[in-house]
Amino acid sequence: MKALDELTFDNRFARLGDAFSTHVLPEPLDEPRLVVASKAAMALLDLDPAVAETSVFAELFGGHKLWAEAEPRAMVYSGHQFGGYTPQLGDGRGLLLGEVYNEAGKHWDLHLKGAGMTPYSRMGDGRAVLRSSIREFLASEALHALGIPTSRALCVIGSSTPVWREKQERGAMVLRLAHSHIRFGHFEYFYYTKKPEQQAELAEHVLNLHYPECREQPEPYLAMFREIVERNAEMIAKWQAYGFCHGVMNTDNMSILGITFDFGPFAFLDDFDAHFICNHSDHEGRYSFSNQVPIGQWNLSALAQALTPFISVDALKEALGLYLPLYQAHYLDLMRRRLGLTTAEDADQQLVERLLKLMQNSGVDYTLFLRHLGDEPAALAVARLRDDFVDLAGFDAWAEQYKARVARDGDYTQEQRRERMHAVNPLYILRNYLAQNAIAAAESGDYSEVRRLHEVLTRPFEEQAGMEQYAQRPPDWGKHLEISCSS
Ligand code: AMP
Ligand code: MG
Repeated sequence: MKALDELTFDNRFARLGDAFSTHVLPEPLDEPRLVVASKAAMALLDLDPAVAETSVFAELFGGHKLWAEAEPRAMVYSGHQFGGYTPQLGDGRGLLLGEVYNEAGKHWDLHLKGAGMTPYSRMGDGRAVLRSSIREFLASEALHALGIPTSRALCVIGSSTPVWREKQERGAMVLRLAHSHIRFGHFEYFYYTKKPEQQAELAEHVLNLHYPECREQPEPYLAMFREIVERNAEMIAKWQAYGFCHGVMNTDNMSILGITFDFGPFAFLDDFDAHFICNHSDHEGRYSFSNQVPIGQWNLSALAQALTPFISVDALKEALGLYLPLYQAHYLDLMRRRLGLTTAEDADQQLVERLLKLMQNSGVDYTLFLRHLGDEPAALAVARLRDDFVDLAGFDAWAEQYKARVARDGDYTQEQRRERMHAVNPLYILRNYLAQNAIAAAESGDYSEVRRLHEVLTRPFEEQAGMEQYAQRPPDWGKHLEISCSS
């Protein structure tokens, strides 16, 4: 286990030079203090969890101190935002502090979000507020615990620095970890600014560092693009299967590693609603829950366009064609498991779709229904859950089909069924209202609720004693919280 001054840096992205990023120092927060830290994320850097409580920790991640070997950089990129191309974006309020490698030889980018103005801040102040930093922290660690690929979060540092949004709030920083912070928008930037040399350098960098196995293929860049398509199909299948709505799927928020990235107005579904829009600035519903699937493909096409200097259009099209079938296969596989099925039948897709439609019409809590479906043998479980539905005849017809399907699936004990289903059906998810309660307490200086909620969400599949209040449907006030982009 390491102390804070024992981290080993290797700043490979910084070495690409000034065409890719700009050197900027973090702007310190006033009176930095630890709000919450993730022991699991600290372990990725081999850090001793005890160091989170030291004042040096808050100073480092609150922008006051810097390792001598760190090379803080603001990255430049562009991207398609809500379907339109924005020629220049970049780290407007975040800095890549450097790459740290751990004892296992894995590299982790340390990215400090809310670190002050950069050349890419445009109209912004370079800051992040406590509210959005807590949301990003909780979401990263919660998604990871659910098995959904995501960037990680080491800690949130709070402060007394005033930051203006719709009202005065307090500035905070979140330290994000990922193997790379390169986005689809990085490739788009060099493509649209017509800088083929830098674009080739970027492609080499990504291939060497993140897709080295593609080097063995006859067309390494094509192999890499295929892998990106596959990872995105799998990530989005997991979002859909677990009811996660990202909210701002612009190409500058899409990672070339196929991990969930840049958390804004995201939400987990409470009641199942395919048309749910979590971002109240998204008037058209471009990034509604069910649109995430086609948008995933749209975003990959935008990346494909930027890769046309390296890969033929026909090959790119063929690779893009992998997305939907792969998505469907992953999604159906996960949903079968969530329903407790161990075998595959053609009609399973219809079984899932019928259930979702019934849940949609009756406003049934998506997570709790699937969790409780495994509590008891199928016949007893559906009888108990029936009361949640308005269309009783519809539900009864579905329940008959489900029971027959379960009977054909195999011979297992209820013990086995419960264990298998509970291992894929979380009891605890990051509901918006739970995050809101934790944020309200933190804004008045009490961080205990954020820490407790984080703890609960690190073991979402395990029933935890005394934590019943985290496994309930939201109260009425918590159902329709409006979350904006202004974070
Ligand atoms: P986002 O919607 O958070 O993905 O941000 C889109 C772009 O705006 C990115 O280039 C961000 O760095 C930038 N940005 C967002 N908030 C701020 C802020 N408060 N100050 C400066 N830049 C920001
Ligand atoms: Mg972003």
